[in-house]
Amino acid sequence: MRFANVSGRLSLLVDGTAVDVAEASAGRFGPDPQSVWSAWDAFVEWEAGVGRTSGSPFSPEQLGPPVPRPRQLFAIGLNYRDHAEEANLALPENPVVFTKFPSALTGPYGEIRLPTEYVDWEVELVLVIGREAHQVSATDGWRHVAGVCVGQDLSERQVQNRPPAAQFSLGKSFPGFAPLGPAVVTVDELANPDKLEIGCRLNGREMQIGRTSDMIFPVGELVAELSGIVTLLPGDLIYTGTPAGVGIGRTPPQFLRPGDVLESYIAGVGELRHVFVDGSGLR
Ligand code: ZN
Repeated sequence: MRFANVSGRLSLLVDGTAVDVAEASAGRFGPDPQSVWSAWDAFVEWEAGVGRTSGSPFSPEQLGPPVPRPRQLFAIGLNYRDHAEEANLALPENPVVFTKFPSALTGPYGEIRLPTEYVDWEVELVLVIGREAHQVSATDGWRHVAGVCVGQDLSERQVQNRPPAAQFSLGKSFPGFAPLGPAVVTVDELANPDKLEIGCRLNGREMQIGRTSDMIFPVGELVAELSGIVTLLPGDLIYTGTPAGVGIGRTPPQFLRPGDVLESYIAGVGELRHVFVDGSGLR
């Protein structure tokens, strides 16, 4: 199943059309895309019984973040070997965890304002928690994941690294710094959910390409490590880290400029497309 936020309404995506869930379920689910997370198992059961009816056409501009208001949004740093190496940092012995504040979420297409000249890209696989998890094992990790999305962990590197202590959460939470979408793709849709091709292109040029099988802490271990401390709640998001090829790791460093077009993709999941505009006058 693939479902999205079409003009603020929970919608199944079927053959390129959108089936409005509130209408199709006679009001049992939706229309708020966030409401599905209070009844995930019932929603899965209902969807399995819906025939493959097609819905209405829609345009990419209508898509919002498929999970618009998660209660918790986790992000993992340095989770790919090649990215830790380009950052000149040792491979982590424990997951590096921070938050992106949920007000930074935005949809899969559209414009994003650049608050400074030091904004960088990080394409990431994003997990959506479907079932509450506390102290679950790595083997059971995927059972608590409803599906995945493509995400960008946009990062303002000066705030992120400013003294006296790193401020990952602030530097990565400017408005629009958490693009998400285009849809939630349930885990059963993926032939091998632990081995997905992931990458991004800037103005048509490939900047990042990797495989999620290169994660230092794969999905099951991330769910085990996080849930070993906090309770993961349905609808929570986990940005799982980025492969090599970010701007700050280049010689000379490269950052996003007004007019840049960033396309971020995961094979079998989907693609995001964003255009950057100058937002420095708004601070
Ligand atoms: Zn990241």
